[in-house]
Amino acid sequence: VVRAEGVRKNFGDVEVLRGIDLRVAQGEVLCLIGPSGSGKSTFLRCVNHLERVDAGRLYVRDRLVGYEERGGRIHELSDKAVAQQRRGIGMVFQRFNLFPHMTALQNVMEAPVRVAGERKEVARRRALGLLTRVGLADKCDSYPSQLSGGQQQRVAIARALAMEPELMLFDEPTSALDPELVGEVLDVMRALARDGMTMIVVTHEMGFAREVCDSLAFMDGGVVVESGPPEAVIGSPRHERTQAFVRKVR
Ligand code: ATP
Ligand code: MG
Repeated sequence: VVRAEGVRKNFGDVEVLRGIDLRVAQGEVLCLIGPSGSGKSTFLRCVNHLERVDAGRLYVRDRLVGYEERGGRIHELSDKAVAQQRRGIGMVFQRFNLFPHMTALQNVMEAPVRVAGERKEVARRRALGLLTRVGLADKCDSYPSQLSGGQQQRVAIARALAMEPELMLFDEPTSALDPELVGEVLDVMRALARDGMTMIVVTHEMGFAREVCDSLAFMDGGVVVESGPPEAVIGSPRHERTQAFVRKVR
């Protein structure tokens, strides 16, 4: 579903991504770990074209992200085409980013109604189903301020799922949560993975990574230092930098 080949990204003179090669197959979960500033968020943002790739190639479902090839040359996609591409990708951030003036149900219905033009009744029924799926059927009419961080994050996941994405991106979805609320969000993500969702997850939750992901990539300094099955990368890292990092977060 996702294929990155030599992806590079600079901010001014700073090389933030220095040639990222990664693949995620249909139904697989890739976890990204690595120290602060290693480029994990930047890579995720490139995948849904919130950042523009400077060099290399990034494909989602065999289509270049943000660009198209015509007559042997690369052309930038129109804003409309980018928006269309992005629709297939759900993203959940560290901060919950819910619309504060809307109830949980309204948050989940928003994009299907406004962006996809779905009928309100249909959207409402689906939103209810999604909130039930994340264990919040009884919180439909609550506003974000009335929900715990973990509940808000689960609404955010339901909202991302409402557009029926074929790929979900998670950027440290539990790192802003109180420890006792982490589990409920990871449980929802675990269920999603079990249902076959293709996911890229930036996380420091090693237990989750070990148990849920199919492959784990350790990033440092804008490169993937080491990747493979989580057992191998966490259990017996080959590179000194990976060893040092894993020792710290374990
Ligand atoms: P963290 O674990 O702290 O979230 P990260 O691995 O997600 O770190 P990124 O957020 O991708 O790291 O940042 C990588 C580097 O790129 C950092 O040095 C950061 O300062 C820089 N950077 C990120 N976004 C921008 C931007 N819009 N403009 C300039 N520099 C940026
Ligand atoms: Mg980050």
